[in-house]
Amino acid sequence: MYHENENLVFEPLLSSNQYSEQSTNDLLISEEQRDFQSVYFTYISRIKNLCCTMTIRTPSMCCCEVLKWIPVIFILGLVGWSYYAYVVQMCIFTIDSVPKKVIYLFIYHILLIIFLWSYYQTVFSPLVGPPQQFYIGEVESASIATIQTVNERRATLIRLSRQANLPLVTRHFDGSIRYCSICKCVKPDRAHHCSVCEQCVLRYDHHCPWTNSCISYGNYKFFILFLGWALIFCTYVAGTSLQYFILFWQDVANSENNETSSVSTSGRFHLLFLFFIAIIFAVSVSSLFFYHLFLIGKNRTTVESHRAPIFANGPQKDGFDLGCKQNIQEILGTDLIKALIPINTTQGDGIHYQVNSMLLEDLQERSRNPTRDVVLPLDTLANPINNDRNYLLSSNTNRR
Ligand SMILES: [Zn+2]
Ligand SMILES: [Zn+2]
Repeated sequence: MYHENENLVFEPLLSSNQYSEQSTNDLLISEEQRDFQSVYFTYISRIKNLCCTMTIRTPSMCCCEVLKWIPVIFILGLVGWSYYAYVVQMCIFTIDSVPKKVIYLFIYHILLIIFLWSYYQTVFSPLVGPPQQFYIGEVESASIATIQTVNERRATLIRLSRQANLPLVTRHFDGSIRYCSICKCVKPDRAHHCSVCEQCVLRYDHHCPWTNSCISYGNYKFFILFLGWALIFCTYVAGTSLQYFILFWQDVANSENNETSSVSTSGRFHLLFLFFIAIIFAVSVSSLFFYHLFLIGKNRTTVESHRAPIFANGPQKDGFDLGCKQNIQEILGTDLIKALIPINTTQGDGIHYQVNSMLLEDLQERSRNPTRDVVLPLDTLANPINNDRNYLLSSNTNRR
Protein backbone atom coordinates (compact mmCIF):
# COMPACT_ATOMS: atom_id res chain seq x y z
CA MET A 1 0.00 0.00 0.00
CA TYR A 2 1.45 3.36 -0.88
CA HIS A 3 0.34 6.93 -1.04
CA GLU A 4 1.47 9.29 -3.69
CA ASN A 5 0.38 12.55 -5.17
CA GLU A 6 1.03 12.30 -8.88
CA ASN A 7 -1.77 14.66 -9.87
CA LEU A 8 0.58 17.41 -10.77
CA VAL A 9 -1.05 20.76 -11.23
CA PHE A 10 1.44 22.43 -13.52
CA GLU A 11 1.44 26.09 -12.95
CA PRO A 12 2.55 28.16 -15.93
CA LEU A 13 6.28 28.83 -15.89
CA LEU A 14 8.10 32.10 -15.95
CA SER A 15 9.24 33.53 -19.26
CA SER A 16 12.94 33.45 -20.16
CA ASN A 17 13.62 37.16 -19.60
CA GLN A 18 12.23 36.87 -16.10
CA TYR A 19 14.79 34.31 -15.11
CA SER A 20 17.16 36.39 -13.03
CA GLU A 21 20.92 36.18 -13.00
CA GLN A 22 20.84 35.80 -9.24
CA SER A 23 18.76 32.66 -9.40
CA THR A 24 21.11 31.21 -12.02
CA ASN A 25 24.03 31.74 -9.67
CA ASP A 26 22.06 30.10 -6.88
CA LEU A 27 21.56 27.02 -8.98
CA LEU A 28 25.16 26.66 -10.10
CA ILE A 29 26.74 25.67 -6.79
CA SER A 30 29.55 23.35 -5.83
CA GLU A 31 29.16 19.70 -4.89
CA GLU A 32 30.17 20.41 -1.26
CA GLN A 33 27.51 23.11 -0.97
CA ARG A 34 24.93 20.72 -2.45
CA ASP A 35 25.75 18.01 0.10
CA PHE A 36 25.57 20.49 2.96
CA GLN A 37 22.36 22.06 1.68
CA SER A 38 20.75 18.66 1.14
CA VAL A 39 21.32 17.68 4.78
CA TYR A 40 20.50 21.20 5.98
CA PHE A 41 17.17 21.37 4.17
CA THR A 42 16.23 17.84 5.24
CA TYR A 43 16.60 18.76 8.91
CA ILE A 44 15.04 22.20 8.47
CA SER A 45 12.06 20.51 6.79
CA ARG A 46 11.68 18.04 9.67
CA ILE A 47 11.92 20.83 12.26
CA LYS A 48 9.31 22.83 10.35
CA ASN A 49 7.00 19.80 10.25
CA LEU A 50 7.44 19.28 13.99
CA CYS A 51 6.74 22.97 14.72
CA CYS A 52 3.66 22.84 12.49
CA THR A 53 2.49 19.74 14.33
CA MET A 54 2.92 21.34 17.73
CA THR A 55 1.81 24.91 17.11
CA ILE A 56 -0.09 25.64 13.92
CA ARG A 57 -2.06 22.46 13.32
CA THR A 58 -5.54 22.03 14.65
CA PRO A 59 -6.28 19.47 17.41
CA SER A 60 -7.68 17.06 14.81
CA MET A 61 -4.43 17.26 12.81
CA CYS A 62 -2.41 16.65 15.97
CA CYS A 63 -4.68 13.69 16.66
CA CYS A 64 -3.89 12.32 13.19
CA GLU A 65 -0.16 12.66 13.89
CA VAL A 66 -0.60 10.64 17.10
CA LEU A 67 -2.75 8.02 15.35
CA LYS A 68 0.02 7.42 12.80
CA TRP A 69 2.19 6.03 15.60
CA ILE A 70 -0.38 3.44 16.72
CA PRO A 71 0.93 0.66 14.37
CA VAL A 72 4.48 1.29 15.64
CA ILE A 73 3.30 1.13 19.27
CA PHE A 74 1.34 -2.04 18.44
CA ILE A 75 4.45 -3.75 17.02
CA LEU A 76 6.59 -2.71 19.99
CA GLY A 77 3.86 -3.90 22.41
CA LEU A 78 3.71 -7.25 20.65
CA VAL A 79 7.49 -7.61 20.79
CA GLY A 80 7.36 -6.75 24.52
CA TRP A 81 4.72 -9.38 25.23
CA SER A 82 6.52 -12.03 23.12
CA TYR A 83 9.70 -11.30 25.10
CA TYR A 84 7.86 -12.13 28.32
CA ALA A 85 6.26 -15.25 26.82
CA TYR A 86 9.52 -16.59 25.35
CA VAL A 87 12.07 -15.61 27.99
CA VAL A 88 10.03 -15.93 31.20
CA GLN A 89 7.29 -18.43 30.46
CA MET A 90 9.14 -20.71 28.06
CA CYS A 91 12.87 -20.49 28.82
CA ILE A 92 12.77 -19.85 32.58
CA PHE A 93 9.59 -21.64 33.74
CA THR A 94 9.18 -24.43 31.19
CA ILE A 95 12.61 -25.58 29.94
CA ASP A 96 14.43 -27.76 32.48
CA SER A 97 17.82 -28.16 30.82
CA VAL A 98 20.19 -25.26 31.73
CA PRO A 99 22.43 -25.54 28.61
CA LYS A 100 19.30 -25.51 26.46
CA LYS A 101 18.03 -22.40 28.26
CA VAL A 102 21.35 -20.61 27.73
CA ILE A 103 21.60 -21.46 24.02
CA TYR A 104 17.96 -20.55 23.33
CA LEU A 105 18.25 -17.24 25.20
CA PHE A 106 21.60 -16.32 23.61
CA ILE A 107 20.39 -16.80 20.02
CA TYR A 108 17.04 -15.17 20.84
CA HIS A 109 18.66 -11.99 22.15
CA ILE A 110 21.09 -11.72 19.20
CA LEU A 111 18.17 -11.96 16.74
CA LEU A 112 16.00 -9.60 18.81
CA ILE A 113 18.70 -6.92 18.97
CA ILE A 114 19.42 -6.92 15.24
CA PHE A 115 15.69 -7.02 14.43
CA LEU A 116 14.92 -4.04 16.69
CA TRP A 117 18.00 -2.18 15.42
CA SER A 118 16.79 -2.59 11.81
CA TYR A 119 13.30 -1.45 12.81
CA TYR A 120 14.66 1.61 14.63
CA GLN A 121 16.76 2.59 11.59
CA THR A 122 13.74 2.18 9.29
CA VAL A 123 11.49 4.32 11.49
CA PHE A 124 13.91 7.08 12.46
CA SER A 125 16.22 7.52 9.45
CA PRO A 126 15.80 11.11 8.20
CA LEU A 127 13.82 11.55 5.01
CA VAL A 128 16.08 12.52 2.13
CA GLY A 129 14.49 15.06 -0.18
CA PRO A 130 15.78 16.73 -3.35
CA PRO A 131 18.91 18.89 -2.93
CA GLN A 132 18.49 22.65 -3.07
CA GLN A 133 19.40 23.00 -6.76
CA PHE A 134 16.19 21.13 -7.68
CA TYR A 135 14.02 23.82 -6.11
CA ILE A 136 12.70 26.44 -8.51
CA GLY A 137 12.68 29.26 -5.96
CA GLU A 138 10.00 31.61 -4.72
CA VAL A 139 10.44 34.24 -7.45
CA GLU A 140 10.28 31.74 -10.29
CA SER A 141 7.43 29.72 -8.84
CA ALA A 142 5.44 32.91 -8.24
CA SER A 143 5.95 34.10 -11.81
CA ILE A 144 5.05 30.72 -13.26
CA ALA A 145 1.42 31.86 -13.38
CA THR A 146 2.19 34.12 -16.33
CA ILE A 147 2.70 31.25 -18.77
CA GLN A 148 -0.41 29.85 -20.42
CA THR A 149 0.64 27.10 -22.84
CA VAL A 150 1.81 23.58 -22.04
CA ASN A 151 4.64 23.75 -24.59
CA GLU A 152 6.02 26.95 -23.12
CA ARG A 153 5.82 25.47 -19.65
CA ARG A 154 7.69 22.37 -20.80
CA ALA A 155 10.34 24.44 -22.54
CA THR A 156 10.87 26.61 -19.49
CA LEU A 157 11.26 23.61 -17.19
CA ILE A 158 13.83 22.12 -19.56
CA ARG A 159 15.69 25.43 -19.67
CA LEU A 160 15.69 25.72 -15.88
CA SER A 161 16.92 22.13 -15.54
CA ARG A 162 19.74 22.77 -18.01
CA GLN A 163 20.80 25.95 -16.28
CA ALA A 164 20.99 24.08 -12.97
CA ASN A 165 22.69 21.13 -14.71
CA LEU A 166 20.19 18.73 -13.18
CA PRO A 167 20.96 15.05 -13.86
CA LEU A 168 17.56 13.98 -15.24
CA VAL A 169 16.95 10.73 -17.12
CA THR A 170 13.20 10.25 -16.77
CA ARG A 171 10.24 12.38 -17.74
CA HIS A 172 6.57 12.83 -16.97
CA PHE A 173 4.16 10.78 -19.08
CA ASP A 174 3.50 13.80 -21.32
CA GLY A 175 7.24 14.14 -22.02
CA SER A 176 7.84 17.14 -19.78
CA ILE A 177 10.29 17.48 -16.90
CA ARG A 178 8.75 16.03 -13.73
CA TYR A 179 7.83 18.91 -11.48
CA CYS A 180 6.16 19.02 -8.05
CA SER A 181 3.86 22.00 -7.76
CA ILE A 182 3.48 21.44 -4.00
CA CYS A 183 7.20 21.48 -3.14
CA LYS A 184 7.94 23.77 -6.12
CA CYS A 185 10.86 21.62 -7.23
CA VAL A 186 11.95 19.57 -10.20
CA LYS A 187 11.65 15.92 -9.18
CA PRO A 188 14.94 13.99 -9.35
CA ASP A 189 14.81 10.63 -11.13
CA ARG A 190 12.84 8.05 -9.10
CA ALA A 191 11.72 10.70 -6.58
CA HIS A 192 8.01 11.15 -5.88
CA HIS A 193 5.86 13.31 -3.65
CA CYS A 194 4.54 11.51 -0.55
CA SER A 195 1.13 12.85 0.40
CA VAL A 196 1.51 11.54 3.97
CA CYS A 197 4.95 13.06 4.63
CA GLU A 198 3.98 16.08 2.49
CA GLN A 199 7.29 16.33 0.66
CA CYS A 200 9.20 14.90 -2.28
CA VAL A 201 11.36 11.92 -1.36
CA LEU A 202 14.36 10.43 -3.22
CA ARG A 203 13.91 6.92 -4.68
CA TYR A 204 10.39 6.76 -3.27
CA ASP A 205 9.13 3.21 -2.80
CA HIS A 206 6.01 3.51 -0.64
CA HIS A 207 4.81 5.00 2.63
CA CYS A 208 4.68 2.26 5.28
CA PRO A 209 2.14 2.71 8.11
CA TRP A 210 3.87 -0.03 10.16
CA THR A 211 6.98 2.13 10.41
CA ASN A 212 5.23 5.51 10.05
CA SER A 213 7.88 6.48 7.51
CA CYS A 214 8.53 6.71 3.81
CA ILE A 215 10.41 3.71 2.49
CA SER A 216 12.83 5.46 0.18
CA TYR A 217 16.49 6.07 -0.63
CA GLY A 218 17.43 6.88 3.00
CA ASN A 219 16.03 3.72 4.64
CA TYR A 220 15.31 1.13 1.93
CA LYS A 221 18.21 -1.11 3.02
CA PHE A 222 17.03 -0.91 6.65
CA PHE A 223 13.49 -1.82 5.57
CA ILE A 224 14.75 -4.91 3.72
CA LEU A 225 16.83 -5.94 6.75
CA PHE A 226 13.84 -5.32 9.03
CA LEU A 227 11.74 -7.70 6.94
CA GLY A 228 14.53 -10.28 6.61
CA TRP A 229 15.49 -10.31 10.30
CA ALA A 230 11.81 -10.27 11.33
CA LEU A 231 11.30 -13.41 9.21
CA ILE A 232 14.33 -15.15 10.78
CA PHE A 233 13.32 -14.01 14.27
CA CYS A 234 9.72 -15.24 13.92
CA THR A 235 10.85 -18.54 12.36
CA TYR A 236 13.30 -19.08 15.23
CA VAL A 237 10.64 -18.36 17.87
CA ALA A 238 8.12 -20.63 16.13
CA GLY A 239 10.69 -23.41 15.65
CA THR A 240 11.94 -23.43 19.26
CA SER A 241 8.47 -23.11 20.78
CA LEU A 242 6.96 -25.88 18.62
CA GLN A 243 7.68 -28.70 21.11
CA TYR A 244 6.08 -26.67 23.93
CA PHE A 245 3.13 -25.91 21.69
CA ILE A 246 2.73 -29.69 21.28
CA LEU A 247 3.14 -30.06 25.06
CA PHE A 248 0.17 -27.70 25.47
CA TRP A 249 -2.10 -30.08 23.56
CA GLN A 250 -0.74 -33.04 25.48
CA ASP A 251 -1.56 -31.19 28.71
CA VAL A 252 -5.07 -30.58 27.42
CA ALA A 253 -5.44 -34.31 26.80
CA ASN A 254 -3.97 -35.07 30.25
CA SER A 255 -6.37 -32.70 32.00
CA GLU A 256 -9.26 -34.46 30.25
CA ASN A 257 -7.93 -37.70 31.79
CA ASN A 258 -7.52 -35.98 35.20
CA GLU A 259 -3.70 -36.25 34.96
CA THR A 260 -1.32 -33.57 36.37
CA SER A 261 -0.22 -30.79 33.98
CA SER A 262 3.52 -29.97 33.74
CA VAL A 263 2.89 -26.31 32.69
CA SER A 264 0.76 -23.68 34.48
CA THR A 265 -2.53 -22.63 32.85
CA SER A 266 -1.45 -19.05 32.07
CA GLY A 267 1.95 -20.27 30.86
CA ARG A 268 0.29 -22.72 28.49
CA PHE A 269 -1.77 -19.95 26.88
CA HIS A 270 1.29 -17.72 26.54
CA LEU A 271 3.13 -20.52 24.72
CA LEU A 272 0.10 -21.26 22.56
CA PHE A 273 -0.26 -17.66 21.37
CA LEU A 274 3.50 -17.21 21.05
CA PHE A 275 3.66 -20.02 18.49
CA PHE A 276 0.55 -18.86 16.60
CA ILE A 277 1.64 -15.22 16.39
CA ALA A 278 5.18 -16.15 15.35
CA ILE A 279 3.76 -18.27 12.50
CA ILE A 280 1.29 -15.57 11.40
CA PHE A 281 3.97 -12.86 11.32
CA ALA A 282 6.51 -15.13 9.60
CA VAL A 283 4.03 -15.87 6.81
CA SER A 284 2.88 -12.25 6.33
CA VAL A 285 6.42 -10.81 6.48
CA SER A 286 7.82 -13.44 4.11
CA SER A 287 5.48 -12.46 1.26
CA LEU A 288 6.57 -8.82 1.54
CA PHE A 289 10.23 -9.76 1.99
CA PHE A 290 10.42 -11.99 -1.08
CA TYR A 291 8.51 -9.43 -3.16
CA HIS A 292 11.08 -6.77 -2.26
CA LEU A 293 13.94 -9.19 -2.96
CA PHE A 294 12.46 -9.56 -6.45
CA LEU A 295 12.26 -5.76 -6.79
CA ILE A 296 15.89 -5.36 -5.68
CA GLY A 297 16.97 -8.00 -8.21
CA LYS A 298 15.21 -6.00 -10.95
CA ASN A 299 16.22 -2.58 -9.54
CA ARG A 300 12.62 -1.38 -9.35
CA THR A 301 10.72 0.48 -6.69
CA THR A 302 7.16 -0.49 -5.80
CA VAL A 303 5.94 2.56 -7.74
CA GLU A 304 8.00 1.56 -10.80
CA SER A 305 6.69 -2.01 -10.65
CA HIS A 306 3.16 -0.64 -11.06
CA ARG A 307 3.99 2.21 -13.44
CA ALA A 308 7.16 1.98 -15.53
CA PRO A 309 9.49 5.01 -15.48
CA ILE A 310 9.49 6.94 -18.74
CA PHE A 311 12.71 7.47 -20.68
CA ALA A 312 13.42 9.10 -24.02
CA ASN A 313 12.34 5.97 -25.88
CA GLY A 314 9.20 5.45 -23.80
CA PRO A 315 8.26 3.56 -20.63
CA GLN A 316 10.92 1.05 -19.53
CA LYS A 317 10.10 -1.10 -16.53
CA ASP A 318 13.70 -2.37 -16.39
CA GLY A 319 15.31 0.95 -17.31
CA PHE A 320 17.47 0.94 -14.16
CA ASP A 321 18.25 -2.80 -14.26
CA LEU A 322 22.06 -3.18 -14.22
CA GLY A 323 22.12 -6.93 -13.66
CA CYS A 324 21.16 -8.79 -10.50
CA LYS A 325 24.54 -8.54 -8.73
CA GLN A 326 24.98 -4.81 -9.33
CA ASN A 327 21.33 -4.13 -8.45
CA ILE A 328 21.76 -5.84 -5.07
CA GLN A 329 25.05 -4.02 -4.44
CA GLU A 330 23.38 -0.69 -5.18
CA ILE A 331 21.11 -1.22 -2.14
CA LEU A 332 23.18 -3.40 0.22
CA GLY A 333 26.74 -2.42 -0.73
CA THR A 334 29.64 -4.73 -1.65
CA ASP A 335 30.67 -5.97 1.82
CA LEU A 336 28.65 -9.07 2.78
CA ILE A 337 28.98 -8.61 6.57
CA LYS A 338 28.10 -4.90 6.46
CA ALA A 339 25.22 -5.68 4.10
CA LEU A 340 23.53 -7.80 6.77
CA ILE A 341 23.67 -5.28 9.61
CA PRO A 342 21.62 -2.06 9.66
CA ILE A 343 24.34 0.47 8.87
CA ASN A 344 24.24 2.68 5.81
CA THR A 345 26.01 0.99 2.88
CA THR A 346 23.64 2.01 0.08
CA GLN A 347 25.57 3.21 -2.96
CA GLY A 348 25.00 6.44 -4.89
CA ASP A 349 23.48 9.72 -3.80
CA GLY A 350 19.79 9.10 -4.59
CA ILE A 351 19.93 11.49 -7.56
CA HIS A 352 22.29 9.97 -10.14
CA TYR A 353 21.28 6.58 -11.52
CA GLN A 354 22.90 4.44 -14.16
CA VAL A 355 20.53 3.10 -16.79
CA ASN A 356 20.23 -0.30 -18.43
CA SER A 357 22.87 -0.82 -21.15
CA MET A 358 20.19 -1.84 -23.71
CA LEU A 359 18.38 1.41 -23.07
CA LEU A 360 21.65 3.34 -23.32
CA GLU A 361 22.45 1.75 -26.71
CA ASP A 362 18.98 2.64 -27.93
CA LEU A 363 19.45 6.26 -26.91
CA GLN A 364 22.94 6.42 -28.40
CA GLU A 365 21.45 5.11 -31.63
CA ARG A 366 18.81 7.79 -31.41
CA SER A 367 21.42 10.51 -30.90
CA ARG A 368 23.25 9.29 -34.04
CA ASN A 369 20.01 9.28 -35.99
CA PRO A 370 17.97 12.24 -34.75
CA THR A 371 15.35 11.83 -37.50
CA ARG A 372 14.30 8.43 -36.14
CA ASP A 373 10.80 8.35 -34.70
CA VAL A 374 10.61 8.47 -30.94
CA VAL A 375 7.74 7.70 -28.66
CA LEU A 376 7.98 10.82 -26.60
CA PRO A 377 8.97 14.32 -27.64
CA LEU A 378 11.27 15.04 -24.73
CA ASP A 379 12.86 18.20 -25.91
CA THR A 380 11.13 21.03 -27.67
CA LEU A 381 14.22 23.23 -27.65
CA ALA A 382 16.79 23.55 -30.40
CA ASN A 383 19.52 21.52 -28.66
CA PRO A 384 19.94 18.03 -30.09
CA ILE A 385 19.98 15.18 -27.62
CA ASN A 386 23.74 14.57 -27.83
CA ASN A 387 24.41 18.15 -26.77
CA ASP A 388 22.16 17.93 -23.74
CA ARG A 389 24.58 17.88 -20.83
CA ASN A 390 21.76 16.98 -18.45
CA TYR A 391 20.85 13.95 -20.37
CA LEU A 392 21.37 10.34 -19.47
CA LEU A 393 24.41 9.89 -21.71
CA SER A 394 26.36 11.81 -19.09
CA SER A 395 24.85 9.94 -16.15
CA ASN A 396 27.72 7.43 -15.82
CA THR A 397 30.34 10.08 -15.32
CA ASN A 398 28.19 12.08 -12.95
CA ARG A 399 27.36 9.21 -10.69
CA ARG A 400 29.15 9.17 -7.33
ZN1 LIG B 1 6.67 17.37 -3.60
ZN1 LIG C 1 5.78 9.26 3.36
